[in-house]
Amino acid sequence: MSDGYNFQQLKIEILARSRATDWETAKAEWKLVGIGEAEECETCLCGHFPIIELCTIANQVTGETTDVGNVCVKRFLGFRSDLIFASIKRIRTDPDKSIGAEAAVFFHERGIINAWEYKFQQSNHRKRNLTAKQLATRRKINQKVLASIARRGIV
Ligand SMILES: [Zn+2]
Repeated sequence: MSDGYNFQQLKIEILARSRATDWETAKAEWKLVGIGEAEECETCLCGHFPIIELCTIANQVTGETTDVGNVCVKRFLGFRSDLIFASIKRIRTDPDKSIGAEAAVFFHERGIINAWEYKFQQSNHRKRNLTAKQLATRRKINQKVLASIARRGIV
């Protein structure tokens, strides 16, 4: 299957930045630490062009970081960054909607939303009929999330 995402090339690039020499172990050294949207199209480590949705991944062993496109991150590294981007699109279209679980964990981990907001999000993210106050809180959380994306690289 060739659709521009070259796994062999990605593997070589990731291995070059990892301590482990076999793919399965090397893969486990990496963690998704940031997401951003490129202002100008960039090229993924796999050679795919263009990519707009960027994922910053960090190697927990070597400390190296690199950017990979959203598709490769999901397909080859198994991080559900696609769900985080889907959340961003959803709240950008409708600020009254809620981010999903993956996005909540991610943005809480990165310190974008605090522990209280994280809990709040979990308790009512499926609810449609929020009180005016709850809705205002949800919007505030969404604003924080979107602001963190605008700043390219929230690592
Ligand atoms: Zn790629």
